[in-house]
Amino acid sequence: MKKLQNYVTGQWLEGKGEGIPMFDAITGEVVALSDTEGLNFADILHYGRTKGGEKLRKMTFQERGNMLKKLALHLVKKKADFYELSYRTGATKIDSWIDIEGGFGNLFANASLRKLFPNQPYHVEGEPVDLSRGGRFMAHHIMVPKRGVAIHINAFNFPVWGMLEKCAVNWMAGVPAVVKPATNTSFLTEAVVREIIASGILPEGALQLITGSARTILDTVESQDVVTFTGSATTGRLLKSHKRIIEEAVPFNMEADSLNASILGEDAVPGTPEFDLFIKEVRNEMTVKCGQKCTAIRRIIVPQNLVEDVQIALGKALGKVTIGDPRLKEVRMGALVSKDQVTEVKERVQELTKTAQVVYGDLDRVETIGADAQKGAFLSPMLLREDQPLKNLAVHETEAFGPVSTIMPYKNLDEAITLAQMGKGSLVSSIATYNDAIAKDYVVNAASHHGRILVINREMAKESTGHGSPLPTLVHGGPGRAGGGEEMGGMRGIKHYLQRTAIQGTPTTLTEITGIYQQNAQYKEAEEHPFKYHWEDIQPGMSLKTHKRTLTDSDIQNFANLTWDHFYAHTDITSLDGSIFEKRTAHGYFIISAAAGLFVYPNKGPVAANYGLDSIRFLRPLYHNDTIYVRLTCKEKVDRDVASTEHPSGIVKWHVEVFDANFENRPESQKTDKDSPLVAVATILTMVEKKQETFVE
Ligand code: NDP
Repeated sequence: MKKLQNYVTGQWLEGKGEGIPMFDAITGEVVALSDTEGLNFADILHYGRTKGGEKLRKMTFQERGNMLKKLALHLVKKKADFYELSYRTGATKIDSWIDIEGGFGNLFANASLRKLFPNQPYHVEGEPVDLSRGGRFMAHHIMVPKRGVAIHINAFNFPVWGMLEKCAVNWMAGVPAVVKPATNTSFLTEAVVREIIASGILPEGALQLITGSARTILDTVESQDVVTFTGSATTGRLLKSHKRIIEEAVPFNMEADSLNASILGEDAVPGTPEFDLFIKEVRNEMTVKCGQKCTAIRRIIVPQNLVEDVQIALGKALGKVTIGDPRLKEVRMGALVSKDQVTEVKERVQELTKTAQVVYGDLDRVETIGADAQKGAFLSPMLLREDQPLKNLAVHETEAFGPVSTIMPYKNLDEAITLAQMGKGSLVSSIATYNDAIAKDYVVNAASHHGRILVINREMAKESTGHGSPLPTLVHGGPGRAGGGEEMGGMRGIKHYLQRTAIQGTPTTLTEITGIYQQNAQYKEAEEHPFKYHWEDIQPGMSLKTHKRTLTDSDIQNFANLTWDHFYAHTDITSLDGSIFEKRTAHGYFIISAAAGLFVYPNKGPVAANYGLDSIRFLRPLYHNDTIYVRLTCKEKVDRDVASTEHPSGIVKWHVEVFDANFENRPESQKTDKDSPLVAVATILTMVEKKQETFVE
């Protein structure tokens, strides 16, 4: 029998034991043996930190993002092989699509985030903080990759997505991973890792795989490591309280089972689209992946007068779910992951039915097509009903991790919220209502207990990603019973693997460290006009002081006529009494246009186009006959992929300061404490050509 290998310390290694059989969920045959005996976890973690970490940390966010994109494109080409194996875990084509292509989607989505990070290996977070009156002392937060390894202990239900949704994030941050999938479906994870390693796209050491049991993996974790766990709350709690996790203060992200609730709004009566959408959503959540999803709906909370209607409609919907060999087109629900899991789910249902009644399904009977119900891990969907959910608590505490869900009544929305909260923290909740007042009341009061809330109505239905789908750009995780963790969520997820440090110093020092020009830093006077330089030769701080221009009365009137902006301060000097203006005032947009007239280099050169404005502030009015000059300083460079563009270029952000040239000459009596020669600041963007294509395939 084939033994699965582990990919550790740069090689595929077989365990030294007899191996543990992994079973085909449909036929009961042994697929392969898992064996991790003899692996040295201390060496594995050390190898990741040193070999993989060193290379990943040096890459910029752009390089890491491009690496992820390339990996995703590579894996997509091989997907047919993964689907074939995935059937053996009991998954249908749709289940597998969520796992396999959902995993690749996560790589793509995280790759896109590279555009939100600076063009360097570490991140500069938030806004600068001014710490002095004289402008010589300031602070900024930077975030650097942790120098440890990400250890992912995953659940059996998503052997591909579970690995990639996590690794995409730590790789983007510049941190290597050691993945430990659940033993019983690790044969699928192994197939994907084989492809990843063979592709050579990742630097060596960025990914290691342990295809089975790893009971001592946490014994040598260190303070720079990060551990994530997905699985049962019991195991999660055990691992979270591991001595080493506590002693080394290792971040531990836990995503455990949660009893997610879906609410039917009081307005969503039979005959409304929301009622139908609710029934469809619950049916899907009970049957997709055989209900083996951490986000599945376990509690169906409905107005007490609609319990019968929901029960009948759900019964009908479940009756149409065909069960059997997931390779067959007509099969809607495959098998659970293993016979052991079937036994466990049955035990949980028996606990629930001490007070609840079964209204659909039979624990001992299931009809299958194309598969032997006795050999495979099949189970009928089970719909239960608990009439006293405020009193009988099992329904809020016992999770049957299979196609099982319980209907329960509520009297009013407050009671529905109370019931939802009785799950003591869930990953997700949903409410079907076409009344946004109900939606708001529910969301605002239930949010404290949920990581995500979906509001279902007729308008979003066609485009909705559904109750059960965590999305790479949104936070995934939940408080309390759900583990108290948080994953993904766009940039937020990546930051979990970065160390945030406040850096204090002069603006000039901080310009150097952050790669972003900071207000009051020393200018680097450019020898030539900055617009004459190519992308590669421009540096933050590079600066130009322009000549001057006097804004005349007729300039202002002409600008008003040209733009049709006839605001009284520019056109009617008889109305200025009692206003903040003393004389005819220049339009803000005239000031910034006049500034452009001063700083733009007119000849054809590397500046390809005006790319827009990020920010603009007018600090005080300028009147006719006032004279201005401008400082144009490179603030930051943002690299762009150039693979698909004819003219490779990057974006340069310019810090534009408009000064009152006569400020020094104004009598002191006319100046206040807050006065400064600065009258306007803006960040403008130009597209600047590169000397040659610097994009690395
Ligand atoms: P477990 O919590 O037992 O296992 C989850 C992961 O932890 C697996 O990779 C497992 O490895 C590993 N593990 C278990 N014990 C240890 C340990 N002492 N040290 C290191 N790693 C360990 O969950 P199961 O997969 O067995 O599922 C059991 C129940 O968990 C389900 O019935 C369901 O209720 C819940 N669950 C929740 C999920 C969620 O997404 N929230 C997902 C899956 C399950 P190994 O497989 O090698 O034992």
